[in-house]
Amino acid sequence: MKFEPGAAGRPVAFVTGASRGIGRGIALELARSGFDVAGNATRFDPSERQAGLAEVQVRCEELGASFLPVRGDIALLEGHESMLEAVLHRFGRVDLLVNNAGIAPAPRFDVLEATPESFDRVLAVNTRGAFFLTQRVARWMIARADAAGAARGAPPWRPAIVFITSISAVASSPARAEYCISKAALGQAARVFAERLAPHGISVFEVRPGIIRTDMTAPVAEQYEARIAAGLVPQGRWGLPEDVGRAVAALARGDFAYSTGMIFEVSGGMDIRRV
Ligand code: NAP
Repeated sequence: MKFEPGAAGRPVAFVTGASRGIGRGIALELARSGFDVAGNATRFDPSERQAGLAEVQVRCEELGASFLPVRGDIALLEGHESMLEAVLHRFGRVDLLVNNAGIAPAPRFDVLEATPESFDRVLAVNTRGAFFLTQRVARWMIARADAAGAARGAPPWRPAIVFITSISAVASSPARAEYCISKAALGQAARVFAERLAPHGISVFEVRPGIIRTDMTAPVAEQYEARIAAGLVPQGRWGLPEDVGRAVAALARGDFAYSTGMIFEVSGGMDIRRV
């Protein structure tokens, strides 16, 4: 593993929305890459070992990683301090934050019918929650990076932050405007943090998934199935959570040490303009 944490022991990733779907895929690929994982979700039932965070814990431990379930709603900013404290209490460090937790509007409304309640909730989770959690973790990383830099002879410590946005950050869907807006704003948050944190040696990346087979896309799976068959995705298939997980793990390993603020799309080529 090429990631240099600047101290003995395994690097630690804090992944929000890790109980299923893309977050679960990210947690497992990071565990496979040598990270210990703190996985967050709104729900955690330790007795239910076939699903949710408890299942992800079992799978991560099978891969040789330690796993800490961190229950909490990312939209509730007052819970962020105790979430980060729980991670630091268990592992003593956070080398990677993955802002993955996100929701789609339920139900989908045309942009002309979108409600303030749905707009506020989607932005509270997808954008505001991720922004302020990043602010808190970034402050800790800066203090830690400064201390590591001051320690004579210490190897470089290269923490990173990844924002999981979406092709919806740039592709329009009039049936879920608030989701598109939340992801566009989150992408810009990634760039602002990237600039601010670069002098401290903290890299920030935006990962933009395309159409990924998860619970989020299950209600519209039939439509996507037909559109993929009709050529919507150049690579001709659904994305899988592990496709995104592998991309995040590649970024987390530190191989892109002279890059920050970059957008990395995982969409089977949907970004290619076609005529
Ligand atoms: P998903 O299957 O619905 O899973 C969402 C995850 O986020 C769950 O672990 C859920 O935990 C957690 N979560 C939801 N609200 C939360 C909150 N307020 N606080 C903490 N955790 C919360 O979704 P997904 O498809 O894996 O999507 C993951 C991310 O990728 C989202 O940001 C989504 O916008 C983005 N994305 C998805 C696709 C796609 O095609 N699926 C495409 C582009 C981008 P609980 O089980 O506790 O609710």
